[in-house]
Amino acid sequence: MPNIAKEEMYDVIVVGGGNTALLTAIRAQEMGAKKILILEKAPKHERGGNGYFTTGIYRVAHNGIEDIRSLMPDLTEEEKQMYVKPYPADQFFSEYMMGNSGLGDESMMQMIVENSLDAIRWMKDNGIGFEIAAGNIRRENDKLVVQNPTPIQCKGAGAGLNDHLYNTIGESDIELCYETGVTKLLRNPSGHIVGVEAQNNETIQEIKSKSVVLACGGFESNQAMRAQYLGKDWDLALVRGGRHNMGDGLRMALEVGAQPFGNWSHCHATFIDAASPQPARREDGEKTSKRIYVFGLVVNSDGKRFVDEGQDEIAFTYARYGQYVLQQPDRIAYQIFDSFGNEVLQNRPLDDYKGVPFTSADTLEELADMLAINKEALLKTVNDYNNDIQPGNHLEYYKFAGLQEDMQAPNIVPPKSGNAFPMNKPPYYAYAVQCGITFTFGGLKVNKRGEVLNWMDKPINGLYAAGEILGGLFYTNYPGATGLTAGAVFAKIVGANAVQDHK
Ligand SMILES: Cc1cc2nc3c(=O)[nH]c(=O)nc-3n(C[C@H](O)[C@H](O)[C@H](O)COP(=O)(O)OP(=O)(O)OC[C@H]3O[C@@H](n4cnc5c(N)ncnc54)[C@H](O)[C@@H]3O)c2cc1C
Repeated sequence: MPNIAKEEMYDVIVVGGGNTALLTAIRAQEMGAKKILILEKAPKHERGGNGYFTTGIYRVAHNGIEDIRSLMPDLTEEEKQMYVKPYPADQFFSEYMMGNSGLGDESMMQMIVENSLDAIRWMKDNGIGFEIAAGNIRRENDKLVVQNPTPIQCKGAGAGLNDHLYNTIGESDIELCYETGVTKLLRNPSGHIVGVEAQNNETIQEIKSKSVVLACGGFESNQAMRAQYLGKDWDLALVRGGRHNMGDGLRMALEVGAQPFGNWSHCHATFIDAASPQPARREDGEKTSKRIYVFGLVVNSDGKRFVDEGQDEIAFTYARYGQYVLQQPDRIAYQIFDSFGNEVLQNRPLDDYKGVPFTSADTLEELADMLAINKEALLKTVNDYNNDIQPGNHLEYYKFAGLQEDMQAPNIVPPKSGNAFPMNKPPYYAYAVQCGITFTFGGLKVNKRGEVLNWMDKPINGLYAAGEILGGLFYTNYPGATGLTAGAVFAKIVGANAVQDHK
């Protein structure tokens, strides 16, 4: 912690050093704040929170190629003419709401949807580059086509975004301390937030500020809180991202009377490589994710399936399916593919199934023996599945596109509601997976201005929150690529209000 004089008064203190925090600080400066301090608990080599690990994909409502052109000036002449399927705001909203079983906070969700394009444009104006995510542009009848609703990716993925934002901060006069965790919010006798207590290895210090923005994530890295709020065995889940999101911001805010909000017993969790190192390695990024189960079958060591691998597009199932692995024997499962399925995995532009641990065998019997899966049960599972397949007819197209809904095995339990390709072309491949928690859904209640609300739904003067720490954004599910968008939308709003309210 640098020497911050006792009488020093900041305009804004931003707690956290992830994408939301940095964008908030940049916005606060744009809006006229003179003295801004970012406090990041992680050391410099671990800075950037979960955002660093991401592929940097943003879910954005847009009207097709014109909007895309406005975000991506580097498109080639041919790309500037391509067809990009629009992703209208009402589609974004209804997929978002439906995925959350109708439970989401409608006004917050609308805010994210309606401001998504504007927030990304603002990031672009701040020098952040965007491109079409790898593998999303295809050639159809001599025309380039983008069908995927989430093709917008920042250049260099999460790491590139992080580096860019830290460079911007470094070139500004925004102050930044690493290895400095905020431990407490300071209040005056009227209950207004007037600063923070922060701690590094050597000292604990009180720092004064006119406003404080909490952008320090959820409690996914805190085993005790996971067991307490998410339930049995969640302390044993693997963590996909940074290790510093211990629920500090939530605890501090609740201590000063903030209102807990949203679904505290639920989280975003996916299948990840069972051998994923802990803590997660930043250089692995998304490599440990195993979410292309839609081309195979997922079984436990009893040889039984437990999810509908083809229930929906991957973006709408992957964040839910991790939780079910925790309930399987030894909390482990196997994604099984035949050579057709594995070829799809190996031909993807991402390297999540390339050069990673797997087991292969010429027969399912051998595969079962190698992995100590109940052999008879596995053979029955695969036979029942193959016998139940109702064939569709667009195999080649969906080798690349994701989900073919007319390829179904509807009568087995659970059914496979899409991409039910026969599992009969040896060799067979198995990828061992466990539950990997990404982030928690429970959080703080804020109003549309990003002010943290107390039990009476009144703003706590001087306290704001943005990003993963917010409650009410996700309940039972998460539409892929909404986290970064939510962070950017709220950073822009909160960064402005935290300054304007306390001039
Ligand atoms: C592997 C992976 C892939 C993902 N892919 C995508 C994707 O492609 N698209 C998408 O939209 N979302 C994705 N997400 C989700 C996304 O990363 C989060 O939604 C987003 O990063 C949340 O941003 P944030 O700034 O709120 O939190 P974070 O990025 O997690 O930042 C929180 C920061 O707070 C700091 N902190 C914590 N406690 C304290 C304290 N007491 N004092 C000071 N600092 C503190 C942490 O060190 C950290 O720097 C992915 C997540 C993971 C793990």
